Amino acid sequence: MTGSDKTISSPVWLRQLGIPGFGPEAQLALAGAHVLVLGLGGVGCPAALYLAAAGVGRMTLVDGDLVEASNLNRQILYGCSDVGRPKVEAAAEALKKLNPQINLEVFRVQAGDEEIDRLVAGSGAVADCFDRNRHRLAVNRACLRFRKAAVHSYVQNFSGYVVFSPGDGGCLGCLVDESFPEQGDNPIIGVAAGQAGIISAAEIIRHLTGIGGPAGSRLIFFDLAFMEWTTRPVARDPLCPVCGRGESI
Ligand SMILES: [Zn+2]
Repeated sequence: MTGSDKTISSPVWLRQLGIPGFGPEAQLALAGAHVLVLGLGGVGCPAALYLAAAGVGRMTLVDGDLVEASNLNRQILYGCSDVGRPKVEAAAEALKKLNPQINLEVFRVQAGDEEIDRLVAGSGAVADCFDRNRHRLAVNRACLRFRKAAVHSYVQNFSGYVVFSPGDGGCLGCLVDESFPEQGDNPIIGVAAGQAGIISAAEIIRHLTGIGGPAGSRLIFFDLAFMEWTTRPVARDPLCPVCGRGESI
């Protein structure tokens, strides 16, 4: 039995193989994929969890922090006994429990580390779950340079934005002034961070498998307090500081 046969015959994927338009090809695309998850906080935890659950074969996890008690309302890969442990270590353990076949690499480095450009270049798609604009824009720049699909997100209170960029076309930098205030340590409820993480994982799954449409850059806004969602395409801004002629941020 080949590796591909084993993937397809595993009962773990049984319920998703029957989705119209998905099938063995999509499952094998996920099994052969390599996703870089930058930041294992409130958005990165659910994004990584659902990517692992869907059958992504390889993930690189990046975070320099230790688990704190104040993380536990939203960072769902960790429990009380993980407080004080490096996030990458606790996250890898939780993901392996869910999917023992997954190939994981962990890097305990902070956002902004120059290593991150190299990791973007070596990945197939990027879940940017960092929470500072300067770090998101640095990832945005690296993703455009190496033509990698990426999702970026911003969350606050009960709401959030998720931007998908396939590696060309409109990017985070085209929007950052209008839609992405600085996040910092804003108040946040777990379901909002979870929603952004699940949308991020879904965008990456769609990109890797070619399921659904449209495929271009888009912005999704959600407000769970009012149960409102808005989606719109992201047009390329000629004055974007990242992909256009605008002043570099
Ligand atoms: Zn741009």
